Amino acid sequence: MSKVLIIGAGGVGGVVTHKCAQVPEVFSEICLASRTISRCEKIRDQLRSPIKIASVDADITHEVVELIKLESPDIVINTALPYQDLSIMDACLETGVNYLDTANYEPPDEARFCYKWQWDYQDRFKDKGIMALLGSGFDPGVTNVFCAYAQKNYFDEIHTIDILDANAGDHGHPFATNFNPEINIREVTAKGRFYENGQWVETEPLSDHMTFDFPVIGPQKAYLMYHEELESLAKNIKGVKRIRFWMTFSENYLTHLRVLENVGMTGIAPINYKGQHIVPLKFLKAVLPDPSSLGASTKGKTCIGCLIKGVKDGKRRKIFIYNVCDHEESYREVKSQAISYTTGVPAMIGAMLMVTGVWQGKGVFNIEEFDPQPFMDKLMVYGLPWQVMEVSE
Ligand code: NDP
Repeated sequence: MSKVLIIGAGGVGGVVTHKCAQVPEVFSEICLASRTISRCEKIRDQLRSPIKIASVDADITHEVVELIKLESPDIVINTALPYQDLSIMDACLETGVNYLDTANYEPPDEARFCYKWQWDYQDRFKDKGIMALLGSGFDPGVTNVFCAYAQKNYFDEIHTIDILDANAGDHGHPFATNFNPEINIREVTAKGRFYENGQWVETEPLSDHMTFDFPVIGPQKAYLMYHEELESLAKNIKGVKRIRFWMTFSENYLTHLRVLENVGMTGIAPINYKGQHIVPLKFLKAVLPDPSSLGASTKGKTCIGCLIKGVKDGKRRKIFIYNVCDHEESYREVKSQAISYTTGVPAMIGAMLMVTGVWQGKGVFNIEEFDPQPFMDKLMVYGLPWQVMEVSE
């Protein structure tokens, strides 16, 4: 029996709250806190069992400290934005509470996410005797666990990993993003980067692509991007020679994005408009559909997995470990589309493994550092079943 404090009542926070509420034998008490209380109320009203809600500005550490002291949770799940990671980690340090998130820290004024800022908390978390689990979403998250599982069960040596993220869903809007528009557009418009033979190779934004025949959803054009799990996997999957990340985008999405970029709407430097400082990307976010509102209209499926090549018992081997998730089924269950669903379920599972003591540690951890088996088992139980497909060379 444990108490969980979830911070951030957006698309992902809503799914985490629903999923924790489905397991009262583990999460006996839930508090959902966010900057805008009406978003917490909306999620609370969707649930059958009562939860507490609170308002908090997670940019302000002492507000989070006060809330933690008031609620005394066993764990804080951070489903706010990457900008709040450090202030929430500081609050967890001050109060001695375990921490989990789904995205690594990114400074608001610089589109440069990396783990350094959070890995720097290692000694402080260790000394305090608490644990931080970083990146317990789908990618990062499940994809990292897929790699650890493959390393443990399918390979003696892993040579290459290609993480492939496809969304073949249609939300019915001319242009919208499936998770926070600001974070999504910062990620997509950044330069591509992949790891090869101990080096990082940089590419122009969305300049490389390939077509991959995904199970269930069929062939899709996927673009090479930098993604945060590459950084920890390059460190933790011993001997890997190359790791890349690919994501699918429709021509329609890319055309809109190109136009928005060309007219300056994706910029993150503030501009002066009639005496007011406005960040174009934040303004764009305000006029785009809220991702948590897309659930009702989104149809189709996602398929996300890891294509892994290496050697087992002296023979070359190639496998694809993947999950397929249906937008409409996700909506029926938790009132969210599959992107939020595939992120929220692993956050709940990571928290469950922490509060039940299955995954234990003192310090800051990436998810692939733990035994993947219990996590893989729970994916099957809690809504993200996976498969392993042998692929011929
Ligand atoms: P949303 O924008 O839908 O939700 C974010 C929520 O956080 C909003 O309710 C927002 O409140 C709240 N919030 C923002 N700033 C603060 C603050 N200072 N204090 C308190 N609450 C705040 O985003 P998503 O749910 O789509 O994404 C949530 C996180 O999940 C992001 O970090 C994203 O990068 C990550 N993610 C991870 C994925 C993975 O697979 N690992 C995939 C998808 C997302 P308000 O309404 O007031 O703005």
